Amino acid sequence: AERVETPPFDGTGRTADGQRVPLLANVGKAGDAEEGARALAEGVGLFRTEFCFLGRAEEPSVDEQIEAYRGVLAAFPGKRVVVRTLDAGSDKPLAFVPTGEEENPALGVRGLRTSWVAPGLLDRQLDAIAAAAAQQRAEVAVMAPMVATVAEAADFAERARARGIEHVGVMIETPSAALLADRLFDVIDFVSLGTNDLAQYTMAADRLLGSLAALNDPWQPAVVELIARAGSAGAAVGGSVGVCGEAASDPLLAAVLVGAGATSLSMAARAIPAVAAQLRETTLEQCRHAAEAVVAARDTAEARTAAAAILR
Ligand code: PEP
Ligand code: MG
Repeated sequence: AERVETPPFDGTGRTADGQRVPLLANVGKAGDAEEGARALAEGVGLFRTEFCFLGRAEEPSVDEQIEAYRGVLAAFPGKRVVVRTLDAGSDKPLAFVPTGEEENPALGVRGLRTSWVAPGLLDRQLDAIAAAAAQQRAEVAVMAPMVATVAEAADFAERARARGIEHVGVMIETPSAALLADRLFDVIDFVSLGTNDLAQYTMAADRLLGSLAALNDPWQPAVVELIARAGSAGAAVGGSVGVCGEAASDPLLAAVLVGAGATSLSMAARAIPAVAAQLRETTLEQCRHAAEAVVAARDTAEARTAAAAILR
């Protein structure tokens, strides 16, 4: 077969019929952000702050945190950068975050839940993010990982807004958050789907187990139905619904996600050109049709076949 080169991304994500879908970068440090900026990412949809401090025994000081965050913000002057607060625990343990001994760490004290046992840690991180934002031109948003209830989102938003951070969101990584998305929008400004964890928790399949990879697949119709539910909740209030899990970097699935209501997609910089090219060839109507077909499918094989037939 003839090989067609993927054209470079021109910096404006959109569908064939002109629906804007900003394509953003996932980053873990300043170097990733610079790579994202070179790839013309339209901003950062997920800054995994825990990646800055993975090897650390002690909590980084506020000044050290400001320095780490500034490095990422500096790569995107004038652009949106979504800073995720520490997602510690389970697959990303941090020595300085007290999660305790747990039999099931993926179901334990992780992500935003660590603020229940160490609220000062979250407060100091929000202080650092607010201070870094004040020193840079990026449009900074904060986002909490592993949210399951509206009360958690409301508490997070209150802490962030008390520091003058205007754009506050939460990740949708649990089925509960997807089902409550309409009510989450009462207390926060945006949501972002973490499809890696959403697939893990929807399918009850550990994302670290290769033997369960077929279950732990974002093409699972049940996962896409939950995404579509969040998408509808966002559309009803004109709220933004990002996707920042690996699903966004699969070109066909990216089109399905747009059809399910995703308003922006965030991914590793190297994935952007192929996703951009797929969207440029696809109308919003085709995206919607593909999303409906995936939600109606019996399994991942049928979902992929149905989407490919509509999108290729
Ligand atoms: C996700 O769960 O999809 C996500 C983006 O967060 P992480 O991969 O860092 O858990
Ligand atoms: Mg996650």
